[in-house]
Amino acid sequence: MYNKYSLKAEEFIDHEEVLASLAYADENRDNLELIDQLLEKARLRKGLSHREASVLLACQNPDKIQEMYDLAEQIKKDFYGNRIVMFAPLYLSNYCVNGCVYCPYHLKNKHIARKKLTQEEIVREVTALQDMGHKRLAIESGEDPVHNPIEYILESIQTIYSIRHKNGAIRRVNVNIAATTVENYRKLKEAGIGTYILFQETYHKESYEKLHPTGPKHNYAYHTEAMDRAMEGGIDDVGLGVLFGLELYRYEFAALLMHAEHLEAVHGVGPHTISVPRIKHADDIDPNVFDNGIDDETFAKICALIRICVPYTGMIISTRESKAVREKVLRLGVSQISGASRTSVGGYYEPEPEEECSEQFDVSDKRTLDEVVRWLMELGYIPSFCTACYREGRTGDRFMALCKSGQIQNCCHPNALMTLKEFLMDYASEETKKIGEALIEAELKNIPREKTRLIAADHIKKIEEGIRDFRF
Ligand code: SF4
Ligand code: SF4
Repeated sequence: MYNKYSLKAEEFIDHEEVLASLAYADENRDNLELIDQLLEKARLRKGLSHREASVLLACQNPDKIQEMYDLAEQIKKDFYGNRIVMFAPLYLSNYCVNGCVYCPYHLKNKHIARKKLTQEEIVREVTALQDMGHKRLAIESGEDPVHNPIEYILESIQTIYSIRHKNGAIRRVNVNIAATTVENYRKLKEAGIGTYILFQETYHKESYEKLHPTGPKHNYAYHTEAMDRAMEGGIDDVGLGVLFGLELYRYEFAALLMHAEHLEAVHGVGPHTISVPRIKHADDIDPNVFDNGIDDETFAKICALIRICVPYTGMIISTRESKAVREKVLRLGVSQISGASRTSVGGYYEPEPEEECSEQFDVSDKRTLDEVVRWLMELGYIPSFCTACYREGRTGDRFMALCKSGQIQNCCHPNALMTLKEFLMDYASEETKKIGEALIEAELKNIPREKTRLIAADHIKKIEEGIRDFRF
């Protein structure tokens, strides 16, 4: 039976509740009176429940869909302004004992190159990432207790934080590794990680078990309850995500919101981020064999509705998506994007030889970080390399409380400008620098509090003189 307070996966993601929500959504998809009420409620910026959100997702009325997009855009502006936080993935190892049928790292794939970065190689990769201007990484690894035990992950995190090259520094390491024990989550917390990210892939238990036929990941409950264990281990920033294309998107959408409601109900804090990957081509993986692919329009609608339904949760999009799709969803609610990503194990320091192919999926957006930063600014966004909250201890409910009070705006905007200034000084091309300097000058005026504005302007001057790492 559905119970969002339960710690059992099959109760907080109750299959019958998902089906009932979808049936309710179908019954009401043309009920314009209800849809107007829901949009009115969403305008209060307190979010919507999975059942309410499912009605909006089912609605096909073009005028109402436009209202959803407009509202998502407005909420995005109100909570996130025009800032976009930048990050890069770093694949540590593609050894994996699981049998996930949508991922080329599955155990039975014998022709993909298996690699695991040594600590020396991590230094090289991270130095290359620092030389692009990155400050925030998401580390990724397959599940393999022999090749990638927790000790390897912890050592790698320590290595990453210790690397200083010119003015470079990785200031926040987010971690995307397999579901693990409370004890291991505690160790990750002690290692100073930012967000723990784990994609559910699909919430549909039956499909989940078919898509994960072998290996520890086959255990649906263990995987789905991972965020509860992470929180028990002291990690209060967790990132959810489903792999769109595996199951019916409406099912995933409702269940994803149920998961967010569960975390909020049990731990008092919802997910820090939601990622929205779509299945992509990769070595021995053809996305067309999965029947549930979604088109760009549906994808945009999902992004807009996530923004409306969980306004305080950051939304992440990767280089899986093309420039055009990224441009569209940035407006609708995405707050974090990766740039210049390599999805192979290694590849930042020097491109991987073609015959070695260790990529997890094909990258659609292949631009350099400098190009992505310039593109964002030309679209009117402020690329931000900010990592301040985590380093100031503003995580979990402290972060959410600040966010809900609207106060976070007084930190994000000046932090974005200061970290962009660092990027321009240390890594940008002349053209990017020119656009960025003009942007910073104009955007400084948009810091509402006079005192903060003056301090930010002073810090920016000091960055010009060579001092780094200011933050509010
Ligand atoms: S999705 Fe993760 S767990 Fe599954 S095969 Fe790929 S790396 Fe391994
Ligand atoms: S101040 Fe906090 S919420 Fe704002 S961009 Fe920086 S890290 Fe993110």
